[in-house]
Amino acid sequence: MPRIPFVPLRGDIVTDVLVVGAGVSGALVAEALSGEHRVTIVDRRGPVLGSTPASTALVEYEIDTPLTLLAEKIGREKAEQAWRRSYLALHALAARTRDLGIRADLRRADNLYLAGNVLDADGLAREAAARRRAGIETKFLPRRALKERFGIARPAALLAYDDVALDPRRLTAGYLNAAIGRGARLFAPADVTDVEAGSGGVVARTAGGPVIRCKALLFATGYEMPHSVPQRRHQVISTWAIATRPQPRNLWPEDCFIWEAADPYLYLRSTPDGRVICGGEDEEFSDDAARDALIPKKTAAIARKLGRMFPQLDTTPEFAWAGAFGSTATGLPSIGAVPGMPNCHAVLGFGGNGITYARIAADVIAGALSGRHDPDADLYAFKRTRATR
Ligand SMILES: Cc1cc2nc3c(=O)[nH]c(=O)nc-3n(C[C@H](O)[C@H](O)[C@H](O)COP(=O)(O)OP(=O)(O)OC[C@H]3O[C@@H](n4cnc5c(N)ncnc54)[C@H](O)[C@@H]3O)c2cc1C
Repeated sequence: MPRIPFVPLRGDIVTDVLVVGAGVSGALVAEALSGEHRVTIVDRRGPVLGSTPASTALVEYEIDTPLTLLAEKIGREKAEQAWRRSYLALHALAARTRDLGIRADLRRADNLYLAGNVLDADGLAREAAARRRAGIETKFLPRRALKERFGIARPAALLAYDDVALDPRRLTAGYLNAAIGRGARLFAPADVTDVEAGSGGVVARTAGGPVIRCKALLFATGYEMPHSVPQRRHQVISTWAIATRPQPRNLWPEDCFIWEAADPYLYLRSTPDGRVICGGEDEEFSDDAARDALIPKKTAAIARKLGRMFPQLDTTPEFAWAGAFGSTATGLPSIGAVPGMPNCHAVLGFGGNGITYARIAADVIAGALSGRHDPDADLYAFKRTRATR
């Protein structure tokens, strides 16, 4: 990972925007704001040490809730709007990353979405029709076509095009360095323990004493959201993942992402050197120690399921890890102004699309702080209209 310059916070500072959290969300927002605003980023641990480095980085526009199921929850129009925005965000992320010259091993990958207990073959056929009606090209593969083309024995699948695989650590470091190159400062460790929000500005107190005064503050603290931010619709989920040894000759055809329309699900991709990264077995988060104690059991289950899907693979985990992320009932995150805390904003509840949603957060938050209202902001707002709750 490229070097990221930062220093511990030793004294009081004044800034325009304080970004709390140096993961992918904080990095993308800081980069979008830098240049126009004086930006300060703080992290209680250090840059890129939260959920971001644990990410398996299947960066998809297909959000956790299928379009047909999201339409049942929030209405067809809003659901299509959310899917289209994710589609645009993924392409915008790839374009901006290229423009900034960030080398994060980006590569395009198609995505195979296998029938399961969330959507069976009929459900997938309806999902394909709904996505195409929204303008998103998707191919329905019945059992025989799926078997012939990919060697997978399932009742059906959807093929989606042009998702992105990348290295989340390099991506985040690249965006942090781009912000720092435009004058942003990064302090770590700096643990924000208390926030006083007022119409004239915000005062953030940190562990050990230093105080940061700012015009606006963004909580980009991942699943460690302060209690002052409403989290009624949110849940923290633990998830587990493995990486196998490199075995390029054993991989499935077309090197696509694979994701099950199932609960619990399995998702997988390959790396440029031919490892398989595979994750799943999600469950509600209790604490770090309990989650980590389950690594052997959960990752053995992932390896077993992977072996059932592709018997030719050596599924022995060479690396195994766990992480946490926030999730919501709709699969849509909360991004925007925090109710009751003037000049404070937050991004949370990113589910399995944290990296795509970080790009949307950058657009929405940078727009709000620079006086450019994002046309989709209400979809993600903490105070949503009845239709998007
Ligand atoms: C195993 C796993 C697999 C995943 N797979 C995918 C995937 O395939 N595709 C995808 O898009 N997403 C995936 N995700 C989700 C994605 O990784 C996350 O949504 C994303 O990384 C969250 O980034 P973040 O910046 O919001 O949070 P984090 O990376 O957690 O960063 C938050 C930072 O805030 C700091 N912080 C917290 N509280 C304070 C405080 N009070 N003061 C100062 N600093 C503070 C923390 O130290 C941390 O560094 C996965 C997640 C996991 C765990």
